[in-house]
Amino acid sequence: MVVRPADSRYQDLIRGTNQRWVGTPERVHVARSTADVVAAVQLAVDQGKRLTVQGGGHCYEDFVFNSDVQVVINLSELDQVAFDPAMRAFSVGGGATLLDVYEKLYRIWGVTIPAGQCATVGVGGHISGGGWGVLCRELGLSVDHLYAVEVVRVDANGKARAVIATSDAGDVNRELWWANTGGGGGNFGVVTRYWFRTKDATGTDPAGLLPRPPAEVLLAAISWPWETLTQKDFTTIAANFGDWHVRHAAPGKPESALFSYLNLNHRSNGQVGLLTQVSGNAKNPEKLYADFLADVTRGVTLRHGPLTNAMGEFAPAPEFEVPQRLPWLQATKYLGAANPILADPTLRGDFKSAFNRARYTDQQIAVWYKHLTRTDFHNPRAQLMVSSYGGKINSVGRSDTAFAHRDSAFKVLYLSYWNEKADDAANIGWLRDFYYESYGATGGVPVPDAVTDGCYLNYPDIDLNDPAYNRSGVPWHTLYYTDNYRRLQAAKAAYDPRNVFRHSQSVRLP
Ligand SMILES: Cc1cc2nc3c(=O)[nH]c(=O)nc-3n(C[C@H](O)[C@H](O)[C@H](O)COP(=O)(O)OP(=O)(O)OC[C@H]3O[C@@H](n4cnc5c(N)ncnc54)[C@H](O)[C@@H]3O)c2cc1C
Repeated sequence: MVVRPADSRYQDLIRGTNQRWVGTPERVHVARSTADVVAAVQLAVDQGKRLTVQGGGHCYEDFVFNSDVQVVINLSELDQVAFDPAMRAFSVGGGATLLDVYEKLYRIWGVTIPAGQCATVGVGGHISGGGWGVLCRELGLSVDHLYAVEVVRVDANGKARAVIATSDAGDVNRELWWANTGGGGGNFGVVTRYWFRTKDATGTDPAGLLPRPPAEVLLAAISWPWETLTQKDFTTIAANFGDWHVRHAAPGKPESALFSYLNLNHRSNGQVGLLTQVSGNAKNPEKLYADFLADVTRGVTLRHGPLTNAMGEFAPAPEFEVPQRLPWLQATKYLGAANPILADPTLRGDFKSAFNRARYTDQQIAVWYKHLTRTDFHNPRAQLMVSSYGGKINSVGRSDTAFAHRDSAFKVLYLSYWNEKADDAANIGWLRDFYYESYGATGGVPVPDAVTDGCYLNYPDIDLNDPAYNRSGVPWHTLYYTDNYRRLQAAKAAYDPRNVFRHSQSVRLP
């Protein structure tokens, strides 16, 4: 089906979650099969039209919708989740959302893939960009369970066709599989299908081919009021949280069952929040949480209370001040769908990220405190979110998948959400100042070194391309891919030699 500007559906199909990016394409193809995608890609190539693809629409930057784009392929109808006996793997359509995947895999087969917390994120961009979420310390990244991809690609002669690439050692298209284990969306073709099966899983029983999530999880949410939070307590909380993760970054430790988000909100939010989930597979989830909380609050004089304010991507959660056990799917749906930003049709946002191997310095925490307490800027939805990483993620080699960040302890997301176009400059400016000063010693970005390890590809930030904001001399692609970039460029040359699939941070032809 093709939707053009005069069609009443057009306005709904030219945007995603971030209203800073609204497209003006000549047409949107709503694909219902791989053959539809092949036909839409072929037509765009034959006509010399600039083409992009939309999965779940959660891109932080303008990679899908910008003024150059003439044709968009919308994949939202390719949302089937099924077991494919011939592949001995679970097949997931390239337009499915994470909630489609979680519900179907669990209800029918009792299994899951570790992936993002947000229910409406699409597998399209999310999986090929790594796929990180609440179960990742216990089960790894999504790409660690990716067996194969079906990709509609365009060859050197301009012919579009679908190819299947697997992780099998003898597969001639193995590099295309590898490129999709962290190379990111919009780079090599249109992923119309992913197949998931855990590496080395044996047998034909679907229930044994992917991990089982814990039957239940312990959920806890607390906060500290900004009104009485001193800089000393703020520093102690941030430092303790970082230290705990550095101590427990290695794979195979019992602490891998715990995952936490520290929400360091701008002061205008009123609270700093800590949201934690402990897997029911832990020997004693309540004790693991209590020990973690004791570590995070050691030396903090201010008492914590319930988390009553919405913050970042989390709804108020006062009912979890005392930790509660919930069935896994219920907890997953709660975290993924209670997200207050998802129902906001005027949402605008900006984002920056860092991976940390070692703990940030007290000097960096002082920079955070300064920007989070600035009085010339007011936005309760502006924050720095420090999140758990490591554990099982770090059991994989840096080049086993295209996703290279395999020895970090936690991940930092600098973000701001707002609603009015008139507020773009204030929010983007605040975030730039905040980030640039946080990494002032390394040229304004978290370069790969003993402390940091670059940025998260699924949180793209085009400022990394700009020498005005990235003065490190380390190019954007090294920040995302480190040493894997050259191999990704070779895959680009092999599978998209005409550079049909591109955006401002796509892998360049060698
Ligand atoms: C509210 C929110 C919460 C998030 N939470 C998490 C989280 O918990 N964990 C995490 O890791 N990330 C998270 N993210 C980031 C998310 O993983 C990325 O934004 C991801 O790229 C989104 O994929 P999408 O298909 O929804 O986006 P889209 O905007 O549709 O696409 C993103 C990019 O991928 C390309 N693409 C999409 N589908 C395909 C396809 N089938 N084939 C080829 N290219 C494709 C697009 O062209 C574009 O370049 C979150 C983002 C948001 C907005």
